[in-house]
Amino acid sequence: MTDRVGFLGLGIMGRGMASNLLRAGFDLTVWNRTAARADELVAAGARRADSPAELAAACEVICCCVSDTPDVREVLLGERGVIHGAAPGTLVIDMSTISPQGAREIAAALAERGVRFLDAPVSGGSEGAAKGTLTIMVGGDADDVARATPVLQAMGKTITHVGGTGDGQTVKLVNQILVVGNMLAVAEALIFAQASGVDLEKTLHAVVGGAAGSWMLSNRGPQVIRRDWRPGFTIDLQQKDLRLVLEAAEQVGAPMIATAMISQLYRTLQSAGLGAEGNHALVKALERLAGIEVGAA
Ligand code: NAP
Repeated sequence: MTDRVGFLGLGIMGRGMASNLLRAGFDLTVWNRTAARADELVAAGARRADSPAELAAACEVICCCVSDTPDVREVLLGERGVIHGAAPGTLVIDMSTISPQGAREIAAALAERGVRFLDAPVSGGSEGAAKGTLTIMVGGDADDVARATPVLQAMGKTITHVGGTGDGQTVKLVNQILVVGNMLAVAEALIFAQASGVDLEKTLHAVVGGAAGSWMLSNRGPQVIRRDWRPGFTIDLQQKDLRLVLEAAEQVGAPMIATAMISQLYRTLQSAGLGAEGNHALVKALERLAGIEVGAA
């Protein structure tokens, strides 16, 4: 019998991911703190739960995609959390980006009730969530990964079992170091192109397929040129991830020279009230220093 699947957290990412589970034919139950955000999925055929505990009682596999470590704790272990409804043997797949240590602690608390846990954070942005092409980095036991695979395959294209509990989150932090470094390079390059007076559309077209190509360049470069700051991933969540990187780096003694600087640049944007804009608005921090605006006539 196919597992009944639950999805907790229907934000920018969760909505697309849950839609793909429904499209793949899973018997899906959903819950979101702001209930109205579940309406569209319920209209499309998902069942609605009134709490994570109620959802857990109706599902064998439960995916979760909320903001930060305390939020995952709340949804899984809190007063109306999954732990109060889940039967032993239930598998929880946390797809949020949280601290590796937090993931290990949550796994241990669930294990006391016989509930299995995988950390399976994702990359690929809102576009990847909507299209079902996410990259998924999984930490946990091989048997649980095998059980989760059909569910993960409905949401992602590249699924890698990277190691034990928490290791999925560590690899996700590696991913985030790469993302922000790429975005800084995109921002600096576009400011140079703007200052030099070359056509920005043609510049992007020329370089995107070469050695300098990257997901951030292909997907966020055009948004920067159009000055479209709608978020695929907000600056506030990006900063949450950089905090997780810097905390984890502190623990292992790895210097984070570029990442620490980028985090400070993002902080200037948060101070200016821009935390809800997309992470590609990093260019604005450089524009202010340079006195040059990308896309200006
Ligand atoms: P989002 O649009 O801000 O959605 C956040 C979701 O978490 C909402 O459903 C929100 O519920 C829920 N939530 C937050 N705190 C909660 C709490 N204490 N209790 C219950 N629900 C809570 O964020 P997102 O972009 O979908 O990101 C979700 C996760 O995926 C984050 O960990 C993020 O780092 C990660 N991620 C995002 C991207 C991306 O490109 N966006 C890419 C990879 C990974 P409400 O609707 O009630 O506010």
